[in-house]
Amino acid sequence: MHTVLELLNLTTNFFEQKRIDSARLNAELLLAETLKCKRLDLYLAFDKPVKDEEVNHYREFVKRRGNREPLQYILGYVEFYGLAFLVNKDVLIPRQETEILIETILTQTDKEAIIKIMDIGTGSGIIAVCLAKHLPNAKIVAVDKSPEALLVAKQNAEKNNVAERITFIKNDVLNSLLNIDEKFDLIVSNPPYVSQKEFSSLQKEIVAHEPDFAVTDFSDGLTFYRKIIESSKAHLNENGKIFFEVGAGQAEQVKSIFEVNSFSSIQIRKDYSGIDRVVKGEMK
Ligand code: GLN
Repeated sequence: MHTVLELLNLTTNFFEQKRIDSARLNAELLLAETLKCKRLDLYLAFDKPVKDEEVNHYREFVKRRGNREPLQYILGYVEFYGLAFLVNKDVLIPRQETEILIETILTQTDKEAIIKIMDIGTGSGIIAVCLAKHLPNAKIVAVDKSPEALLVAKQNAEKNNVAERITFIKNDVLNSLLNIDEKFDLIVSNPPYVSQKEFSSLQKEIVAHEPDFAVTDFSDGLTFYRKIIESSKAHLNENGKIFFEVGAGQAEQVKSIFEVNSFSSIQIRKDYSGIDRVVKGEMK
């Protein structure tokens, strides 16, 4: 029988050979999940023998991670903006940068405002759910072309007790922005913005495991910004705003798309690494 420490050491070596970043941390998180304890509790249990059935369960996790499946899919959940979200292979794993998008919107929106928001490409639903949680009078429409993603997003809305204020709609915005005749005060999107060219050079965790259509537009990376900005006028109320997350180096291009479509009060905000990450435009 293996002890906790032996399992951690074996797995750390294995992950290091596989060139997985933070090998030890990955080993600890997967073992803690297997044993249903906190990571730090493992430190008090180094000499404890692990039951065979738990070892088998753990080996399955280790094998998946060894195949470079992202840790978050194996654990099945992530923490984002202080809330817990379920994730699986049908949705993009929430990225820390997206917290800047949420924060930018919240600092520019009256907390009590009775507003309507549309989240385009909701994926796991993080944006819709966080906004619903922090804007108690907001009504939100969350759109995605993937029915599997919408299932995850709905579960996340329920888990975080905001399901009654979010309507989920299956729609591909590249066909038409919205298949219902409704107007919004705010449109938000973190669209697939990686260009076709860049996509293949991303790490295996992303290319082989995350849904490709959530990462890339299979073109120059700007397809969704063009489509959403150009077709949003029919769906925005007066002074309506659009907030986007953008990829590194895209902010100025997205700003120009806003400008040629007569949007004003355009603002760009950096993320914690100093990369221009959020672009906002207002319809006047
Ligand atoms: N809205 C989700 C997120 O920000 C999904 C985005 C996407 O799939 N491109 O994580």
